Amino acid sequence: MKTVPKFWFEPYPWIDGDWHRDGVTTEVLNPATAEPLAAVAVVDAAVVGRAIDGAVAAQRDWARTPAAQRGRVVGEIGRLLLRQKDEFARLLTAEQGKPYAHAVAEIDYAASFFSWFGEEARRVHGRIVPHPEPDREFLIRYKPCGVAGLITPWNFPLAQGAKKIAACLAAGCAAVWKPAEATPLVALGLAPLAAEAGLPAGLLQIVPGSGPLVGGVFAEHPQVPVISLTGSTATGSTLMAAAAPGIKRLSLELGGNAPFIVLPGADLDFVAEQLVRLKLFVSGQVCVTANRVFVDEAGHDALAERLVERFAAAKVGNGLDESVEIGPLIDGRACEKVGSLVDEAIADGARALCQNRGYENDESLRAGSFFPPTVLVDVRDEMRIAREEVFGPVLGLLSYRGVGEAVRRANETPQGLAGYVYGRDLGECRAVAESLQVGIVGINEWRPLKAEIPFGGVKQSGIGVEGGEEGIREFLDTQVISLPVPPLEP
Ligand code: NAD
Repeated sequence: MKTVPKFWFEPYPWIDGDWHRDGVTTEVLNPATAEPLAAVAVVDAAVVGRAIDGAVAAQRDWARTPAAQRGRVVGEIGRLLLRQKDEFARLLTAEQGKPYAHAVAEIDYAASFFSWFGEEARRVHGRIVPHPEPDREFLIRYKPCGVAGLITPWNFPLAQGAKKIAACLAAGCAAVWKPAEATPLVALGLAPLAAEAGLPAGLLQIVPGSGPLVGGVFAEHPQVPVISLTGSTATGSTLMAAAAPGIKRLSLELGGNAPFIVLPGADLDFVAEQLVRLKLFVSGQVCVTANRVFVDEAGHDALAERLVERFAAAKVGNGLDESVEIGPLIDGRACEKVGSLVDEAIADGARALCQNRGYENDESLRAGSFFPPTVLVDVRDEMRIAREEVFGPVLGLLSYRGVGEAVRRANETPQGLAGYVYGRDLGECRAVAESLQVGIVGINEWRPLKAEIPFGGVKQSGIGVEGGEEGIREFLDTQVISLPVPPLEP
C-alpha cells in the first residue's frame, strides 16, 4: 500500500513567489476514505485581484526574455515534475482517487506538455508578406497577450493545468491558475517546482477558490484578456456570458459524449480489452471516455459477454493499493448523478448485465464514494444516459444495423469532443472517422491524446485547442505592421 506523501508545499494560495498565508479554509478529502487530507485557504476577490496585479508586473519582463530562455525554464518544470513523480502520483491518488498507475500516467502526461511547449517557445515566429502596392511590405508578428486566467477541473488536476500553463508561459504570458475546488493540493505542489526551475515570481499565480468567484474576477478584470477553461459545457456557457461584456478571448475545453463505433467483423477480444481500459481509466471520469458504444447486431452479444467478464473481474478500491484498477468517483454527489442515470435507464428498459460491488465487503472503503462498474445493454438514443455525459464506470451498449446508421446516430448530439472507431478494414475505419463530428478520433486506439497534437472539441465541446503547435496560439496576439521597404540608395 502506498502512503500519502509529506507535503513539500503549503496549503495556501501561491502569489508573487510566496505562500499567501491567509484566508478562510476548506477541507480537501480523500474520496476513497473520506479522510481529510488538508485544509486549504481559498481566495476572495481581493486576493485574485492582487494575483492579477502581480502577474501583470512580472509579465512585462517575461515578454522581453528571449524565447529560448523562456523555453528552458518551461522545460525544466517538466523535468522537475518527473524527478518527483512518485510523490506527485501518491498525492494525486489520495486527492483525486485514481489508481496509482493512472496517477503516474498523468504526471508523465503533464510533464510532456512542459517539455513540448518548452521546445515550441522558440518556434513562435512571424513572417513577411508581400504588399500589393509598390515599395511596401507587411510584417506579421505574434505577441504574448499578457495575463491569462486559467481554470481547470478535478479529473486531471495536474495535466489540465500543465497543458495551459506550459503554453501560456512559453508564449511569454503570465498565468493565474484556479484549480478545481476538490483538487487544489497537486496544483499547489507545482509552485515550488516552478520557482526551482527559475520561473520569476508572479508568472505563475495559483489561486484555489470558487469557480464563479474567480471566473467572475477574470471576466471583469481589464488586464486579463484571455481566459482558458476546462470544465463542463454548462460552466463554459456561464463563463462566456460573464466574459461577453469585456470581449475576452476564450479557450474552452468542455464536456463530451464520445461515440465508440465497433464495425462489423472487428476483433472483439481486442475491442473489449481496449474499451475496458478506456472506460475504467479514472473510473470513466474523463471527457473523452466512450459514452455510447455502437455495436452491430451480429457482434452485440459476444462483445457484451467479453465486457462483463472484464468488468466483473476488475478490482475496485483505494487507488493507493497498487492492485486496485478502479478508484472511487470524486464525491458522493457524482455517485448520485451516475446512479440516477443508470436507474432511469433501467426503468426505461435497459438491462444491467454486471454491477461489480466487490468493494462493499471492505470496511475501510465504507465512507468512500464508490460506484459499481456497470455494463448496460438495450440502451437507446433517447435515454438520458446516452444523451448526457455519464462520468462514471458505466458502459452502455447500443446496437445498430448498418454503418451509415451508426454514424448518423453518433453525430446526433450537441457535443463533439472525441470518437473511436474499431475495425479490421482501415479504409472503412478512416471513412467513418472522417464522418464523425468530433475534434479527435482514435482508430483502434483508446488514448490518442499527446502533447504533440492539437486537441479540442467542436460543437458544444469547446472553442480552441490545447497541445500541438496550435496550442501556444491561444496565448498570442497577431499584429500586422505595414511598412515601407527601405530604399537602397544607389
Ligand atoms: P465544472 O465545470 O463544474 O468545473 C470546472 C472548473 O470550472 C472548476 O475549477 C470550477 O471551479 C470552475 N467553475 C465552475 N463554475 C464556474 C464559473 N461560473 N465560472 C468560472 N469557473 C467556474 O466541471 P467539473 O465537474 O470539475 O469537470 C468535469 C467536466 O469537465 C466534464 O464535463 C468534462 O467533460 C469536462 N472536461 C473537459 C475536458 C476537455 O479537454 N474538453 C477535459 C477534462 C474535463
